[in-house]
Amino acid sequence: MRPKKVLIVDDSKLLHRMFEMMLRQYTLVHAYDGREAIDRLNEHKDVDLVLLDINMPRMNGLEFLAEVKSIVEHQRIPVVIITTEGTEDDTQRGLDAGAAAYVKKPFRNEELLGVINRLTASPAP
Ligand SMILES: [Mg+2]
Repeated sequence: MRPKKVLIVDDSKLLHRMFEMMLRQYTLVHAYDGREAIDRLNEHKDVDLVLLDINMPRMNGLEFLAEVKSIVEHQRIPVVIITTEGTEDDTQRGLDAGAAAYVKKPFRNEELLGVINRLTASPAP
């Protein structure tokens, strides 16, 4: 079985490095704002899940979500919002806009892996 492919969308380089260490068993694709993330999705048609920051330049996480949910070939990809303290309203807006789940920073490795595994598990035949 091929490793699952996860698209990381965050304007913090530090976060990308942290996810690289935490998610070694996955193939990672990187984007630093929502606009770039749309481009990456169009290049990588086999992305299994998106980890999404909210506050980013050019196109923020909520704008990215609205865009992704309007594109038929991408709208089924589960999106997990990575939330920081004080962004509860945006997190709720993200869930309303179709995000599958959220993970609150700081989070434990197992917590993140649990959410990813649950959302990328193949449905029983
Ligand atoms: Mg940010």
